[in-house]
Amino acid sequence: MSENSEIFDLVVVGSGAAGMAAALTAAHHGLSVLIVEKASHWGGSTARSGGGVWIPGNSVLRGQAPADDIESARTYLKSITGEYGDAERIDTYIDRGAEALDFMMAHAPLELRWVPGYSDYYPEAPGGRAHGRSVEPKPFDAQRLGAELATLEPDYTLAPKNFVATQADFRQFHLGLRNPRAPFRVLRIGARWAKGQLLRRHLLARGQALSAMFRIGLRDANVPLRLNTSLVELLETDGRVTGVVVESAGVEHVFGYLAALDAARA
Ligand SMILES: Cc1cc2nc3c(=O)[nH]c(=O)nc-3n(C[C@H](O)[C@H](O)[C@H](O)COP(=O)(O)OP(=O)(O)OC[C@H]3O[C@@H](n4cnc5c(N)ncnc54)[C@H](O)[C@@H]3O)c2cc1C
Repeated sequence: MSENSEIFDLVVVGSGAAGMAAALTAAHHGLSVLIVEKASHWGGSTARSGGGVWIPGNSVLRGQAPADDIESARTYLKSITGEYGDAERIDTYIDRGAEALDFMMAHAPLELRWVPGYSDYYPEAPGGRAHGRSVEPKPFDAQRLGAELATLEPDYTLAPKNFVATQADFRQFHLGLRNPRAPFRVLRIGARWAKGQLLRRHLLARGQALSAMFRIGLRDANVPLRLNTSLVELLETDGRVTGVVVESAGVEHVFGYLAALDAARA
């Protein structure tokens, strides 16, 4: 095996929520996992997103939101996707989504809460809910990331440290003074900022928090992350993808099963 080859059961390409969730799942099922990320920062679009997670019937919603049933969510997804929706995938999402989220919460410090009144995007569609089915990460102290905080994909907003707004905050204050609760929400953000400063925290919210929570779970599961490492090619053995060729600092590496490494060497 060349010095540019390493054996892993699974190589995940991309360090967004999809890749991190896959890596976390595989690591906790006993596989050796590597994440490669072409950017100099990890987190992808996920780290810049609102961090809202729409998984009907999940255990967080069951404890906090008005009672709902997943059948209405199934109706909703099928009605809004119409002829473009894949019924089997929708059913799997609805039937197994809550279980998948529980798995993530069991293996990463994912702390989520319902976003009250963050409506489904089509609440008027069959099965739609105006009270909303989104959950979001609670503000999270990024100091737990240690040196990896410096390579987290930055947020779009350049707010002062600890001045963070959640989706629930946006929901209340974006209407300005037309919403009587808005001033209180702004005060609450200020109080969070002051507390964060006093306790010397480094709070993250939304997609930044979600990414950080996943990364800590992955670190606890000893899943390495290689930044500045791009997928170049998939390697196949007997019709199955068994490895990847990646490029980092102008050097190509092969990661995957031994069969893939042998094939690359041949
Ligand atoms: C402003 C904004 C707000 C949003 N808010 C929400 C929300 O609240 N809720 C919601 O559900 N969705 C939201 N979205 C959408 C959501 O962010 C994306 O759907 C989600 O992050 C996609 O996750 P992902 O893991 O598939 O991709 P990403 O998070 O984009 O990760 C993909 C990663 O793969 C890397 N990559 C790509 N090609 C290669 C390669 N060849 N080699 C190595 N690495 C590679 C990329 O650099 C990137 O880091 C929002 C999006 C935006 C822009």
